[in-house]
Amino acid sequence: MQSFKKYDYVIVGGGICGCSIAFELSKISSSVLLIDKLDNVSKGASGAAGAFLSPLLGKPNKFKDLVNEALIYSTNFYKQNTPELIDNCGTVRVPKDRLDEDKFQSYIPFIDFHFEVDIKTKGYFFPIGSVVNSSEICKILSKNAEQLFNYDVVSIDFVDECWVVNKEILAKNLILSTGASIKLLDEAYIEIRSVWGQRIDIETSTLISTNYHKECSIAHTTKINDTTYKSSIGATHHRFVDEKDTNNEDTLRLLKKANDILTLDNVKVTKLFGGARASSSDYFPMIGEIVDSKKTLEEFPYLKNGTNVNPQRFTRYKNLYIYNGVGGRGFVFAPYLAKILVKHIVKENNIDDTLSLDRLFKRWVKR
Ligand SMILES: Cc1cc2nc3c(=O)[nH]c(=O)nc-3n(C[C@H](O)[C@H](O)[C@H](O)COP(=O)(O)OP(=O)(O)OC[C@H]3O[C@@H](n4cnc5c(N)ncnc54)[C@H](O)[C@@H]3O)c2cc1C
Repeated sequence: MQSFKKYDYVIVGGGICGCSIAFELSKISSSVLLIDKLDNVSKGASGAAGAFLSPLLGKPNKFKDLVNEALIYSTNFYKQNTPELIDNCGTVRVPKDRLDEDKFQSYIPFIDFHFEVDIKTKGYFFPIGSVVNSSEICKILSKNAEQLFNYDVVSIDFVDECWVVNKEILAKNLILSTGASIKLLDEAYIEIRSVWGQRIDIETSTLISTNYHKECSIAHTTKINDTTYKSSIGATHHRFVDEKDTNNEDTLRLLKKANDILTLDNVKVTKLFGGARASSSDYFPMIGEIVDSKKTLEEFPYLKNGTNVNPQRFTRYKNLYIYNGVGGRGFVFAPYLAKILVKHIVKENNIDDTLSLDRLFKRWVKR
């Protein structure tokens, strides 16, 4: 074989997931390559995100616990590693209607964070809420990894104990953090549900000192000059994307929802961003090794009848990992899960069943 450059770790996908992994791997190796088919990091969903970090309210459940644990970890992580790119100005959650207010009241015994009543909006102010600068964070987290942009990965092959990317880049370990596009993985049990959305950046003469969330989120303003401030409003939810917002529908919808929270004066929309939130079929993230369904079923055909097999005996693609399915909370999950995944890659821990792909494989086999 021709001699190509070989890396200890190659990451495909330069969104917040790929960049968070690059950050953790760069601490333990100087041989890390981050690839993206677009012309920089954070050009997919990560660049579209309003990038709010907010608590999840509700009755106790595993997803809420995961989100709120990640929120605490990731907030501290950004404060420590990118202090100038996180604004921990708090978020006011405004109930939509009477029903929503009743729901909020029923959640009070289970709320994990301090909050205060916000008299102005009849909402609830959570000091834990933040907003981050998504693109700059991705750049900083990935800066110690080698980077390759405008490079579409179309094939990955395992040859001589090594992953070969596009038949020319060699990787001892390959991590796929490709968001909504999972074409590189030919495994029927790995599904991505995409929810497209739009965020808008605006200029306004209204000063807003904290983030607000009702049916959309409004970021606190930053000053441009004595009479003008800038802010972001996000986000809409769609099955399909219309990045240019041809009929202006999303923009108008966001402005209407934002004005339903606060009156924004002299608004000028300066930029539109569109992207796809990539979720797994059960909305929990997907991290870790990838089960080879064909080989596993050849060895354990009775899995189809519901017979239990210890997942440690499943056949997995060697040194191939996924980091995906962070849905609408990528900036909350990414640093927290990257830490867990890197510990797993260097064989220091097992990944919980709620996060690993094993759960999805087991469910798929039984169907
Ligand atoms: C409008 C909107 C608002 C949002 N608001 C928030 C919010 O307030 N808070 C929050 O936490 N989250 C928010 N999210 C969700 C957040 O953006 C995502 O969870 C997060 O960005 C997902 O990151 P990722 O790295 O998985 O995917 P992405 O950022 O999409 O990155 C995947 C990358 O992989 C690259 N890629 C894919 N396939 C290949 C290939 N074959 N070869 C090379 N490169 C490839 C793509 O080009 C892309 O850059 C929002 C999302 C949207 C769309």
